[in-house]
Parts: sequence; structure tokens; C-alpha cells
Amino acid sequence: LYDSLIIGGGPAGASAAIYSARKGIRTGILAERFGGQVADTVGIENFISVQETEGPKLVMALEQHVKAYDVEIMNLQKATGLSKSGEEIQITLENGGTLKSKTVILSTGARWREMNVPGEQEYRGKGVAYCPHCDGPLYKGKRVAVIGGGNSGVEAAIDLAGIVNHVTLVEFDTKLRADAVLQKKMYSMPNVTVITNALSKEVLGADNKVTTLRYEDRASQQMHDIALEGIFVQIGLLPNTDWLKGSIDLSPRGEVIVDQKGETSMPGVFAAGDCTTVPYKQIIIAMGEGAKASLSAFDYLIRS
Ligand code: FAD
Repeated sequence: LYDSLIIGGGPAGASAAIYSARKGIRTGILAERFGGQVADTVGIENFISVQETEGPKLVMALEQHVKAYDVEIMNLQKATGLSKSGEEIQITLENGGTLKSKTVILSTGARWREMNVPGEQEYRGKGVAYCPHCDGPLYKGKRVAVIGGGNSGVEAAIDLAGIVNHVTLVEFDTKLRADAVLQKKMYSMPNVTVITNALSKEVLGADNKVTTLRYEDRASQQMHDIALEGIFVQIGLLPNTDWLKGSIDLSPRGEVIVDQKGETSMPGVFAAGDCTTVPYKQIIIAMGEGAKASLSAFDYLIRS
């Protein structure tokens, strides 16, 4: 029986594991893939106090830090269910096993929805980006497109317009879905062009860098090319919470609903990072939230 069992081995989970272990309580961390999204990241320039690093390097540092403590690491294991009987919380695993703990911290993260067009994977991190807060400054003075006209797409266009030379926002529908106030702000910016009713078809490049976004005008069915250096895909962030449906409260977007202390609707179950309703999905925020959830779990343990 664990005192604290952490599900997910990204920055939120690693931080929670270290904070729990430092309390001297029995701590376990289960991850489908230790490192999470950070393992897929090329350059990181906003992890405060580390001016520049790379994803795999940060993952190694995370792992070493966790391993410096008495934490049971269960890598390459997937959680498929969460339930509670009495004071014991049970996690069922894909391999048929079950783990039991007095508290659980959910930190299963999220994944960006992709366009699923030729060239997107090939040029990921070489012009195809998903996070304007992370990669926006790399495109200073350059031309970019933002795919998606919802709130996150229009917010990204406004954000990027202040950094880059020109932004083209590409929306599939005939109109944008973003809030009117955001649209008004975006349309007031001189270096943003909006193209609606457009289906993104292909990412083209040369010398390992993006050069072109090809889209189809859905009205005329004609193909068009936009010359650019960057493409920010903003068509949704999907939390890895399908396995929690029915056991704890999720938002309409599928995010785990947490209170100020990181507690979920099930007593003793806490959550942190990109899988939660906490806004702004960033490494530093996930780590802070992981620490918070862990301290809240400890507080719960000493009271029960
Ligand atoms: P994640 O990193 O998503 O980790 C989730 C963990 O849970 C993983 O270990 C996963 O295997 C595991 N998991 C999921 N489901 C299950 C399950 N059912 N059972 C067991 N384990 C499970 N942020 C920045 O601050 N700066 C950047 O420069 C930056 N660049 C980025 C670039 C890219 C390409 C991407 C994709 C993201 C980037 N981000 C960046 C965002 C940042 O990576 C995330 O905000 C952060 O990793 C979230 O941490 P997390 O621990 O909440 O989740």
C-alpha cells in the first residue's frame, strides 16, 4: 500500500514524486513513458534559471532527481482505471495488475491535436510548432501561419503578431469561433491576415526547414501556397483522461477539475499539470502544480 501514488511521469509527476518522497512517505510513480511531452521537445528556453536546454536533457535531469530519492518508478505501464473502496484508492493497469494507495496524484498530461497532413511530422520542431509561448520568439521577424480560429488560435495570432513579421490565420470553417473581443483585437493588428474556408493540405520545406503551407480554398477547390517559416497548429489540446471518465469530475473538455489545492472530486485523489483545468500548459507551471498537489496529499494523509 502506497502513501502517495503518482500516475504520469512528466514534469508534474516528477515534481510530485520528489515532494512526496521528501516527506519520508512511501511513494510510487507510474508512467506510460517517463518524461512525457518534454521527451518530444527540441529547444526549451523558458524553464526559468536554465537559459537554454533540450527536452531529452531535461528528462534525464528529471529522472536523476527522482532517482536520488526512495521512489518506486514503474515505467512503461499504463493506468486504465481508478476507484475507491473505504480509504483505499485502487489503480488498475493495462497489464491486469492493481496498485493500492492512500492518496493518488493524477498527472497524465495532454497531447496537441494534429492536422494529420503530409509534412507535419517531418517538420515538427523544424517550423511546425504547437506552443506560441514556447516557440514564438524563435520566429522573430519571420512569417508564420496559425491553424485554427478558435480562442487559442486567435490568441496565438495576437501574441505572435507582436513578435513576428506577419501572421496568416487559417480557419477551416467559413467564420472564426473565437470570442468577439479577441477577434476585434486581432483584426486591429496590421500584420495579421485571415483566411477562412480553407483546408490545410500539406507542409512543404527544404533543407530541413518549413517553407510553405499548402491549403485548399474550399469554395473554389483551388490549391494555394503560403510562403512562410513557421506554422503554429492550434486546433486543440486533448487531456489524457479518457480512462477517468465516470470516476472523477471532468470539465467539458475532459480536463480533471481541481480546486485551489489540486484536489479532485474524489477525496484523496489530487491532480496536477496539463491534464487539469489549470490554465497555461507549461513545464514550469506543471512542476509547480505537481509540488502543490503533493503537499496537499501529504496534508490529507496527516489528517486522516
Ligand atoms: P506530460 O508532459 O504530458 O506527461 C504526462 C505523463 O503521463 C507521461 O509520462 C505519460 O506517459 C503519462 N501518462 C499518460 N497517460 C497515462 C496513463 N493512462 N497511465 C500512465 N501514465 C500515463 N512547455 C514549456 O514550458 N516550454 C517549452 O518550450 C515547451 N515546448 C513544448 C514543445 C512541444 C513539442 C510540446 C508537445 C510541449 C511543449 N511544452 C513546453 C509543454 C510542456 O511540455 C507541458 O506543459 C508539460 O510537459 C506538461 O507536463 P505534465 O507532467 O502535466 O504532462
